[in-house]
Amino acid sequence: MVASGPAGGDAPRVRFAPSPTGFFHVGSARTALFNWLFAKRAGGTFVLRIEDTDEERNREEWIDGIVSAMSWLGMAPDEGPYRQSDRVGDHRAAADRLWAAGAVYACDCTRQAVEERIRGNEVPGYDGYCRDRGIEPGPGRALRFRVPDDGATVVHDLVRGQVAFPNAAIEDFVVMKSTGQPLFVLANVVDDMAMGITHVIRGEDLLPSTPKAILLWGALARSGGPAGLPAFAHLPMLVNEQRKKLSKRRDPVAVESYRDRGFLPEAFVNYLGLLGWSPPGGQEIVPLADMVRAFRLEDVNHAPAFFDVTKLTHMNGEYIRALPAEEFVARCAPWTTGPLAPWPADRFDEQVFLQVAPLVQERVSTLDEVPAMVDFLFLAEPLVDAAAWAAVGGDELAAGLLAAAVDIYQQVEWTAEALHQATLRLAESSGRKLGKAQVPIRVAVTGRRVGPPLFESMVALGRVAVLARLRAAQERLSSP
Ligand code: GLU
Repeated sequence: MVASGPAGGDAPRVRFAPSPTGFFHVGSARTALFNWLFAKRAGGTFVLRIEDTDEERNREEWIDGIVSAMSWLGMAPDEGPYRQSDRVGDHRAAADRLWAAGAVYACDCTRQAVEERIRGNEVPGYDGYCRDRGIEPGPGRALRFRVPDDGATVVHDLVRGQVAFPNAAIEDFVVMKSTGQPLFVLANVVDDMAMGITHVIRGEDLLPSTPKAILLWGALARSGGPAGLPAFAHLPMLVNEQRKKLSKRRDPVAVESYRDRGFLPEAFVNYLGLLGWSPPGGQEIVPLADMVRAFRLEDVNHAPAFFDVTKLTHMNGEYIRALPAEEFVARCAPWTTGPLAPWPADRFDEQVFLQVAPLVQERVSTLDEVPAMVDFLFLAEPLVDAAAWAAVGGDELAAGLLAAAVDIYQQVEWTAEALHQATLRLAESSGRKLGKAQVPIRVAVTGRRVGPPLFESMVALGRVAVLARLRAAQERLSSP
């Protein structure tokens, strides 16, 4: 029996080993985070290794996406990024050693021939046809690992406990393709060995390949490689609300898309940390530094973790509200001063934004909601929402209210409190509640029915603009 066990000794070395075949997936980000947390807590080293050997599916931009998203989330690697493709020579040398030791055999079966032969077999996978044919390696010949016929390979998993795989159910798997390209499982093990990885922490979808990795590790160790197996920890899958594995097509899984929508990295990373783990006290707001102190692989759950976008969004709102106003203003820059800003750059006034910032913070969950909350302040004319205007147009008292508002706002002291009192009197005299009386005024001034509190908004916009907008709305109402 070949078994894995926790490596003893010095500070741990862990790696995050993504294959750059698409946008950076939230599940991968969670795997990266758990590796990072584990390394930081133990004073170890976090290595980034890009597993880019699948030339057809890799793209350079996906690699950039991984590196930049990791730095956005505050978990930059201590070493790397290394490229697996730079190490193909080592993978080939390892295959040669395996051949010399008799751990692999050459196979010239075509896929079609194998499929025809094994159809209907009780044990799925390759049938060992070339095992004892004694053919030499060469072009057009794959190398297959000679898996022991009996016994079991046991993964001692730090999350899942002991998982035993009967060797009879493991096929003689390919380690080198007939094209001479090393396969994932070989490259992965050779690199983990070369990089001194002590703990392999990765998604549960890779658990079925782990017995193969353990068998390879043993064979390589016997043929001159380092002996100590790494410890393994397989993290629970992320699922959607139908409890199905998150899918690239159905679910919003790209980390980049959350950054672009104005999720704060500290909120996002906090939420990721709760996907399969929770701190001993069970609290949900756990800043990264606290997570580092509390994180233990032993506390990771087996059960699939629900990636709940609603909960994530709610948590983001909490983080937004906790920011000092100046910091909030700075974080909003991509939406207020960059190409995403819906107003001309020269009309934006940071001091005016700062004035309403705390009120906006209370009302948004993501930063991309900010422009619609404050565009009335920085556009020459408010963008009038059609439904909002229709409501005003259908209100026979609106024109009178607007006219009266112009009258009193001309004189009133320009503070939120004075505007509040004046509008209260206006409402009373028209027999309305304040909330209802405010609707035409808000729509005239901001173009919308919802937004930051009206009186503070008016103070920030200034008396001249407010009066002009009220008059314009009044005219619009009276023109047929
Ligand atoms: N490159 C593999 C993948 O992205 C991960 C390998 C590993 O973590 O061992 O699925």
